[in-house]
Amino acid sequence: MSQASRAAAPSPAAAPAPGALPSYLDPSHLGPWGIYLQQVDRVTPYLGNLSRWVETLKRPKRSLIVDVPIELDNGTVAHFEGYRVQHNTSRGPGKGGVRFHQDVTLSEVMALSAWMSIKNAAVNVPYGGAKGGIRVDPRLLSRGELERLTRRYTSEIGIIIGPNKDIPAPDVNTDGQVMAWMMDTYSMNQGSTATGVVTGKPIDLGGSLGRVEATGRGVFTVGVEAARHIGLDVSQARLIVQGFGNVGGVAAKLFAEAGARVVAVQDHGGTVYREAGLNVPELLKHVAEHRTVAGFADGEKIADDQFWQVDCDILIPAALEGQINKTNAGKIRARMVIEGANGPTTPEADDILQERGVLVLPDVIANAGGVTVSYFEWVQDFSSFFWDEDEINARLVRIMKAAFNAIWLTAQEHKVSLRTATFIIACTRILHARELRGLYP
Ligand code: NAD
Repeated sequence: MSQASRAAAPSPAAAPAPGALPSYLDPSHLGPWGIYLQQVDRVTPYLGNLSRWVETLKRPKRSLIVDVPIELDNGTVAHFEGYRVQHNTSRGPGKGGVRFHQDVTLSEVMALSAWMSIKNAAVNVPYGGAKGGIRVDPRLLSRGELERLTRRYTSEIGIIIGPNKDIPAPDVNTDGQVMAWMMDTYSMNQGSTATGVVTGKPIDLGGSLGRVEATGRGVFTVGVEAARHIGLDVSQARLIVQGFGNVGGVAAKLFAEAGARVVAVQDHGGTVYREAGLNVPELLKHVAEHRTVAGFADGEKIADDQFWQVDCDILIPAALEGQINKTNAGKIRARMVIEGANGPTTPEADDILQERGVLVLPDVIANAGGVTVSYFEWVQDFSSFFWDEDEINARLVRIMKAAFNAIWLTAQEHKVSLRTATFIIACTRILHARELRGLYP
């Protein structure tokens, strides 16, 4: 292709429109961080003397915004906006995923990093909270473009990440291959192989067995524990799932294996329904081939907004944040919502669900299985000694059950929601560490 025809080729819509406001200046994008601040305000009355440190939780420790320029396959240069936010490192290095999505904003990454601080403290792994992202629709990039984007982003944030500083992992639209490129780029820049700089790596590069399934397995584990507390028989339960990727797909599979009927699944491409229960392994195969549940032959297509009112016992939102809001919270018929996604329920919706007696298992505990096995991966990388999958799953289940039951008791004791109870436990741990360390200088 000549240079002229390259220049004339349309640049992918993945690049933000020229002249568009950077997202951190756009007031309509302040949402997720505002939601997080409200959650901290709700918990402050329960923090006793530690509440004098609460401002620590309302300010990310470090926020890095980077320009990520790459050459596209058509010869043009596109610039993308990337972020890495370290919300808190009082209890250990930053830890949290990297998201590639066209709607990523600084506010969102700040909130996700804060929720990582809470989550890591809730399951008591020795990490602070961090998160990263690039504002890009990766589906519009070729594999080569995606690799160049990942490598340049990793180089740009390389000044603040590291095995003892901040350890990224996969999140929406990033996977083991992206982690392999991140690990390689960081290692090349450092001059030595540093497997512990990211988790969620392929097994052959120091990844952990069980990591891919860990978040979904954690969702399932806390779901079963909560079901026991409210007298719900999982083997008879009707389940609906939004988001059928790493988290939603695995959670649906484990619930189906336990006998639950998965009656509706929604993803970015549409919603499928089957009263008798969808065949989850077949649906997973369909998604592996077509990248969406839409078009699945053994189910009926229903309108996307019908999804929320499907009769069910358990709803698992496992896609993006803000999906359960004041417009649909009143229609939800589930007894229990297990938040596989981060921040899927707005505070107004949370109140509506609570008033209606729907039990919400909050993200900050429900999806903590992923980071728990990421912690195992990091430990295995440091010791260069790898555990078998049974051991990993057994340790994961033990940690998730113990953390969930402590949260359940705290909720009963203070007569608060499970979300506030999780925040009480986590914020107490973080602020206690803050107090013990003191201020420097
Ligand atoms: P993924 O990319 O594997 O899957 C995302 C799913 O959401 C896909 O099925 C996609 O089609 C669907 N989706 C996207 N936009 C949608 C929309 N507008 N409506 C309906 N469905 C939509 O991502 P994942 O790793 O499964 O992550 C899902 C959520 O879980 C995210 O909130 C993520 O932060 C959270 N989470 C992931 C992990 C992990 O280990 N992967 C850990 C903790 C939390």
